[in-house]
Amino acid sequence: MQYVSTRGRATARRFSEILLEGMATDGGLYVPAEIPKVEIHSLRRLSYPELAFEILSRFMDDVPALRRIVFDTYTAQAFGSEEVTPLRTLEPGLHLLGLSNGPTLAFKDVALQLLGRLFETSGKKLNVLGATSGDTGSAAEYALRGRSGIKVFMLSPHERMSPFQRAQMYSLQDSNIHNLAVRGVFDDCQDLVKLVNADREFKARHSIGAVNSINWARIAAQVVYYFKGYFAATRDDSEQVSFAVPTGNFGNIYAGFVARRMGLPIKRLVLATNENDVLDEYFRTGRYRVRRAVTETSSPSMDISKASNFERYVCARVGSAKVAELWRKLDETGEFTLPPGEEFVSGRSTHADRLATIRWMYSQYGVVIDPHTADGVKVGLQHARSGESLVCLETAAPAKFSATIREALGRDPERPSGFENLESLPQRCTVIDKDAAALKRFIESHA
Ligand SMILES: *Cc1c(COP(=O)(O)O)cnc(C)c1O
Repeated sequence: MQYVSTRGRATARRFSEILLEGMATDGGLYVPAEIPKVEIHSLRRLSYPELAFEILSRFMDDVPALRRIVFDTYTAQAFGSEEVTPLRTLEPGLHLLGLSNGPTLAFKDVALQLLGRLFETSGKKLNVLGATSGDTGSAAEYALRGRSGIKVFMLSPHERMSPFQRAQMYSLQDSNIHNLAVRGVFDDCQDLVKLVNADREFKARHSIGAVNSINWARIAAQVVYYFKGYFAATRDDSEQVSFAVPTGNFGNIYAGFVARRMGLPIKRLVLATNENDVLDEYFRTGRYRVRRAVTETSSPSMDISKASNFERYVCARVGSAKVAELWRKLDETGEFTLPPGEEFVSGRSTHADRLATIRWMYSQYGVVIDPHTADGVKVGLQHARSGESLVCLETAAPAKFSATIREALGRDPERPSGFENLESLPQRCTVIDKDAAALKRFIESHA
């Protein structure tokens, strides 16, 4: 499999060469030169790791130990059950696909647990530098803790994460994990990462790698559970299913788009945003207009001003020559227009919708969902049609966002076992200013 840039001006590469970074030298993102087609009937009865291997081996065809890596990753021990992503049927035609049963209770674990093993097996010495507003950082740290040859430098906004998220990251005592709390907001963290990466000499000297949402391996790993969810929700391959996806950087739902192109009978992809609705606006109107700032919401992992993986979708629609032109326009004017594909529908959910949906799910089905999942369920139901099956992706466990659950239900969500005393564990982190030179010095002395 060859990977090419969405902007068409970078050398084609093999999977192992793009594993550490999704960005191409021409500023575009790597995508497979061609999306492989699969025969779905041969996949229906496979276990999660078997299915994952069948799908991933098409994208990661130059990883020699892939089968072992995949079987070591997707275990009942790491994900709570043999099913890894269990489907819960709420009523006929309405399902919840549980993606939050990994070590950090968010769907990011599904991809990052695999990435951790792929990084270690590559045998390269690596310093992973990332910025997080919560879920990605903890999932990356749990996936990389204690791995040989790998160090993690994770920037997070000082005193802005939920107490649970903070405790998850800062309580890790592994010597290869460095939590850096930046005096500033998430955007400041991201700017620092960009500044360090812009210094090519520094980046090469310290083998700086990334685990951000544009990493192709993450997308590929997420394709797998669309297949798993489809098979669990249907009896035979003639049925179609729609998926409702709470969306931020367009990584999760883009994986659904890839699954559909591989031949999975997905009827519609229902995209849900929170108050940061740049993608809802696009899929309703065809106008993509990036925002200057993000609004802080109660589904914080979807708080984005532009959606990194969106470029991959546009490339699949119009090809790389046109992408280069559209992104030039975006840089100059902050927007472009392109008619959206009809396999997508979208909607927007607010804080009040989130609370109402959490209450409704609880009273109707006795199920507590997290605020992000609630955005997806709200918009999914808004587009539901009778006689059609809808699978809503559950992207985090409610325990991670207890303040909003308390506001909705008047009580704390249940804690999964093993997390009871999380906030009382000793924490360690280094507080730094928004200063790229100081960050580089820190990396230099700890790499
Ligand atoms: C990251 C995240 C999302 C958004 O996913 P994208 O791939 O960025 O669209 C939604 N919900 C939760 C809980 C997340 O952590």
